Amino acid sequence: MSESLDRDSWLAELRQRVPEISPAEAFGQQAQGALLIDVREENERAAGSPVGALALSRGFLELRIEDSEPNRERVILALCASGRRSLLAAEALQRMGYRHVSSVAGGFERWKSEGLPISASSLDTDAVERYARQLRLPQVGESGQLKLSQASALLLGAGGLGAPAALYLAAAGVGRLTLVDDDRVERSNLHRQVIHADARVGMPKTESARMTLAALNPRIQIDLRNERLRADNVERLLTGHDLVIDGADNFPARYLLAAATRRLNMPMVYGAVERFTGQVSVFDPRRNDSPCYRCLFPEPPAADDAPNCSEAGVLGVLPGIVGLLQATEAMKLILGIGESLIGRLLSFDALNMRFRETRLPRDPACPGCGATAVFNGYEDIERFCKLSG
Ligand SMILES: [Zn+2]
Repeated sequence: MSESLDRDSWLAELRQRVPEISPAEAFGQQAQGALLIDVREENERAAGSPVGALALSRGFLELRIEDSEPNRERVILALCASGRRSLLAAEALQRMGYRHVSSVAGGFERWKSEGLPISASSLDTDAVERYARQLRLPQVGESGQLKLSQASALLLGAGGLGAPAALYLAAAGVGRLTLVDDDRVERSNLHRQVIHADARVGMPKTESARMTLAALNPRIQIDLRNERLRADNVERLLTGHDLVIDGADNFPARYLLAAATRRLNMPMVYGAVERFTGQVSVFDPRRNDSPCYRCLFPEPPAADDAPNCSEAGVLGVLPGIVGLLQATEAMKLILGIGESLIGRLLSFDALNMRFRETRLPRDPACPGCGATAVFNGYEDIERFCKLSG
């Protein structure tokens, strides 16, 4: 408590020395010739920056400000994410002799919420280099890359399907990945879950996956949820994401996911594998003509009819292929390009090396999305999965 008191009084003291102005006032002063400096870090600026602002991270401010603005008489406005770091930045500039420095209260968050103009292009040099080959695609470009960096995907399972999908979504720069898995890495996972490593057997899968993803692309945010998807956490876990990659290894989780994505109005990128075959589709409740998972599988199969990987076995490359098909669909949804698998079921047969596509229309009598469908709560879904399982 004393710590927060200390911090509060220290902030109040700082505010006496550094004038604060609103984002709207800052925007007005910019038009009069003031220099607005965005002191946030490069990765924070990936989601945009005020139009005309000079990007100069707090850590480099004292070092580089004189190159950008040697005139100590110019009006300078410092902006950060929420308005605290900019107070410190402004104070540092005052100490260097800049005479007219203010801090923008509320920072970029408030700037954005007040609808002030934001520059669309704010890729830094690292991003331009890292994503060069996909930036070159006219269907992606800078605006597409910004969409990716602002997107968030939840991956249910850091296993066979989630692992390859996570690797490529991270590499592509999808801004936030949430991994949901409560298992630990086992040696028998490694023939297909190549995101993990032999030395990490026994470690929680989420943590093991995070190590690989962070090493691959340190720019993205990786959130870990060491939980099993259940009736009482499914909506909480999913909320706040743009889409879900379904890598569930059990039917209760898959049916919960199907129900929650419908209720939260978010796309579910479905994938499943068994032995030498796999299938992929996209269920997108935002589109009226989209089927849901239960248009395809109204009820869970009996346990004997639905062997999982540990019982039936699976060729190691198979979940890699299916997981990457899911990642491809996820990227297309985020970018808004191409024709998605909505309304189509893609089946893959590795032994014969054949892809087969079947039309998957919405079922008017579907127990998940049909006219007479009733939602009796997630507990109810868990219960009927266990009964038929
Ligand atoms: Zn349906």
